[in-house]
Amino acid sequence: MQDLKAGRVLADEIDLRKFSRDQSIYEITPLAVVFPSDLEGLQKVINFAKEEGFPLTPRGGGSGTAGGALGEGIIVALASDGFFGKIGAFSRSGESIFVHAGAGVFHGDFQRCLRERGLFLPADVSSAGISQIGGNIATKASGPHALRFGSIDRFTEHVEFFSARGELVNTADPTTIPERFRDGLQDMANRLLKNASAWNFLKGREGMKVASGYNLFPFIRKLPPGELLAQLLVGSNGTLGLVTAATLRVVPYDPGRETMLLFFDDLQEAGRAIVAIRDAGVAAVEIMNRKTVRILQKRTAAGEVLTHDAHVLFIEFSGPGGHDAVAEVRGILKAGGYRTLADPVIGTVEDEIEKLWEARRQILWLIRNPAPHLKALSVVNDVGVPLRHLADFIVEVEKVFENHGLETMIYGHGGSGNLHLRPLFDVTRSDLPEAIKRLTDDVYEVVFRFGGTVSAEHGTGRLRIAYLQREWGDALYGFMQELKALFDPQGLLNPGVMFGEQGFSRHLRKDFSAP
Ligand SMILES: Cc1cc2nc3c(=O)[nH]c(=O)nc-3n(C[C@H](O)[C@H](O)[C@H](O)COP(=O)(O)OP(=O)(O)OC[C@H]3O[C@@H](n4cnc5c(N)ncnc54)[C@H](O)[C@@H]3O)c2cc1C
Repeated sequence: MQDLKAGRVLADEIDLRKFSRDQSIYEITPLAVVFPSDLEGLQKVINFAKEEGFPLTPRGGGSGTAGGALGEGIIVALASDGFFGKIGAFSRSGESIFVHAGAGVFHGDFQRCLRERGLFLPADVSSAGISQIGGNIATKASGPHALRFGSIDRFTEHVEFFSARGELVNTADPTTIPERFRDGLQDMANRLLKNASAWNFLKGREGMKVASGYNLFPFIRKLPPGELLAQLLVGSNGTLGLVTAATLRVVPYDPGRETMLLFFDDLQEAGRAIVAIRDAGVAAVEIMNRKTVRILQKRTAAGEVLTHDAHVLFIEFSGPGGHDAVAEVRGILKAGGYRTLADPVIGTVEDEIEKLWEARRQILWLIRNPAPHLKALSVVNDVGVPLRHLADFIVEVEKVFENHGLETMIYGHGGSGNLHLRPLFDVTRSDLPEAIKRLTDDVYEVVFRFGGTVSAEHGTGRLRIAYLQREWGDALYGFMQELKALFDPQGLLNPGVMFGEQGFSRHLRKDFSAP
């Protein structure tokens, strides 16, 4: 493999150990890790893997929580300091602004570059410093502002990717799109159109934040082949193609933001309040349960503004109407008789906002290991439910954690119905794999009862494959399998991710004491 002359190759034990993990509960040692130097190098790796029968796993920053960037074959990592780490041309079309970015660009570097030009990518992940644009696209990433703007699919204009056959496809250039993709997708679109129940199921979920399974929503938008293809790569978890670059739509950065903090004694009441205020011009509504808030109070500068021992809603308003929206939300809460513990804290200073957002971005690092034997494992950490069910879902899911005797941090993008549930597991218990599986089954049972999703923003990876068919139903699950067969009939790209028979606990880390 060293003779490939495709780029840097890592194959010694220490390096491989590093790439055997991501932010998930899994661990798989790869055969080798290759950092291709350029497109030609990447093509050589794909051809080599194809000829030798080695599976390929694309890897970005390795921040994924579902084990999607792990594999037994060759890991293809795109370095941020080389060919794939370039931010290219800015362009305009009418009111829209577009930026070309290599898949290896770190999200945080991308946002900084945009900010210098007064711009912003609203799919603003909390993992900005450790995730890359390619990984963000492959997981259909989003952030707190998904409530107003949606996930990264809304901002993905064109995608450049290598197919499993080693063809370089640019979705903006029809001449690069293989005929078999064009015909196969048209055929699927026709059949989906005729399947009323599958179509209606997708239609019914259009307004929901969903990142599980393949992104089939563009089929019902009847997009032309290039756009459809770009959208299908979004959320594909490295199983349909290897993304090399993308053209992203960005928006003007809005510095004039106002915030409101609401303190609740009852978490369900907080959930109900979200539903009431969601349409009142809010750009983001984050929810944090009391246990999470206590940790932020103790360990971050946000403690100065998180002044009560309470469950908290952190609301951000944006745009020129922000001030009116603050008043509107106050009015809604008063008229609805929502019981808050104290007067809302209103912030208008950029500094204050940043303190809170910074604390919010740090939550996982702060909560994940409160005692040597306790870990907030990524297990049911990314569920979503239709917003109207959020409050009831919270009640039911808290009961599940209680039944399992697990203390749980609950936080997340409440305004989008997306909760990060982080139960603290005693990682020394002898039945850990079974305990994780039992909890997952029980939590997802509640998720499905409310028509929810097992992943609203982090993607399917390895962690959630056993639950996809139940979530999407046989017909749409079948369409997803067909899509995989169309793009990668030999199963070269990321086997065991999105689909697989390996079982939930296979590849579970043996030792959770290491970071
Ligand atoms: C502290 C923390 C906070 C987080 N916050 C958020 C958040 O706010 N929003 C959010 O959406 N997620 C969040 N995540 C999850 C994670 O950061 C995202 O899923 C992120 O988009 C993954 O990007 P990555 O570059 O790290 O990808 P990886 O973890 O390296 O890979 C993820 C998946 O993408 C595939 N992939 C990576 N690069 C490519 C490529 N070039 N071509 C094809 N496939 C590729 C991989 O094969 C894998 O299946 C968070 C994670 C952590 C640890």
